[in-house]
Amino acid sequence: MGGKGTKEEVIKYFAGTENQRYFDMLYSGKVKVSFKPQKVEKIPEVFKESIKLLLEKSDERGIMNEIIEELGMEENLGKKPSELSGGELQRVAIAATLIKDADLYVFDEPSSYLDIKQRLNTARVIRKYTKEKMALVVEHDLILLDYLTDFVHVVFGTPAVYGIVSQPMSNKEGINSYIGGFLTMENMKFRNEPLKFVKKTAQKEQIKEKIFEWENMEKKLGDFKLKINSSEIMISEMVGCIGPNAIGKTTFAKIMAGELKPDKGNLRKKIKIAYKPQYVKSNEQKVNKVLKRKMINQLNLNRVSNEKLDGLSGGELQKVSIGITLSQEADIYIFDEPSAHLDVEEKINAARVIKNFLKENEKAAIVIDHDLMLLDFLSDRVLVFDGVPGKKGFTKGPMDVGKAMNEFLETLGITFRRDDQTHRPRTNKEGSVKDKEQKKKGNYYI
Ligand code: ADP
Ligand code: MG
Repeated sequence: MGGKGTKEEVIKYFAGTENQRYFDMLYSGKVKVSFKPQKVEKIPEVFKESIKLLLEKSDERGIMNEIIEELGMEENLGKKPSELSGGELQRVAIAATLIKDADLYVFDEPSSYLDIKQRLNTARVIRKYTKEKMALVVEHDLILLDYLTDFVHVVFGTPAVYGIVSQPMSNKEGINSYIGGFLTMENMKFRNEPLKFVKKTAQKEQIKEKIFEWENMEKKLGDFKLKINSSEIMISEMVGCIGPNAIGKTTFAKIMAGELKPDKGNLRKKIKIAYKPQYVKSNEQKVNKVLKRKMINQLNLNRVSNEKLDGLSGGELQKVSIGITLSQEADIYIFDEPSAHLDVEEKINAARVIKNFLKENEKAAIVIDHDLMLLDFLSDRVLVFDGVPGKKGFTKGPMDVGKAMNEFLETLGITFRRDDQTHRPRTNKEGSVKDKEQKKKGNYYI
């Protein structure tokens, strides 16, 4: 929510809603709040001592050791914040928030920098340790938001101009409204098209033409070794990639893009590749020099079309980079983490722009991402990365989306079902009837 309001205005705004109670209590000092800020990369500027000391100071609930174990942070206790990666800092911030004694726990974007495995695990931990408390989460990964919450507010409007907060809805209704682009209670349409999920069914035995294939390949980088099994991609096909961090996804993308040579094996065909790297580099050029008007419009970059790339935010630069990739003439388009730094609306839009482009031009693509809903929306088949992060990685597939997700989710012990209205994937709450039923049958993703 942007803008400032007086306490009275805020209480009046939320009059009659569940939130009025929060804010009444908050402002009268009856609610103790523990807050995880959005920008965890700022922690090293504020805290210079070890993670262990940092956490010990906050441990009002006496659950520090449990949380450290649940979040897999044992190895980082002796380190200083400046020595940690973004994902590690995020988990420190979440741990420090949870171990304080409070009535209301607030998490601003807890999923940033985390891989899919860490996201789902972190969500589970947040839920477990806020069970008897109030919690408020701001999040762009809709699967996590769905899993974490009971009630959802949709915030919409025009970025940097105005924002409106909807009435609270059940999490199912709230997220479905968001996907549909329409709020029933407010009678308000905020997007022209709903996001459509198709039910993924087992791929039929179609005779399709291969566009790209590769042999069994191996690549060693320092202490890390990646094994890629031989496979192929068909014309018009979209292959998603899932796996934890440091398992070789970017290495795979670089090999496919011809930026890295494998030690063993090779690509079978020389074809033209357009590649969006994970870490996007900026330069002095202006947005309207690197992108055509049509692409600027499609990606909602009008507000910054006259700016230099150097001056853009992470999300804006991400969108420019997606646009540049799609503007190239190629046979295969590779996107390494296109949803990083994008908000939900931007993710939905970018996914749609990519999908429409591929359909219209009959091109194939490879997309690596940690947003499961995005991968589900985009992918025809999925390549699973497995192994030991930082040590060895290997690929399985590409295979049917459901099968791939099933294999991956089984290792996490989290089950998904499809929403009956929108078909979007939803996590089952741990221990729910559906969760137990599906686990018994080995159906982690249906
Ligand atoms: P992912 O994209 O799945 O997070 P990467 O492919 O970027 O993983 O990296 C896989 C592993 O290889 C990581 O442990 C990373 O530190 C290591 N690695 C990547 N590039 C190099 C390099 N040039 N030299 C040494 N190790 C590297
Ligand atoms: Mg990567």
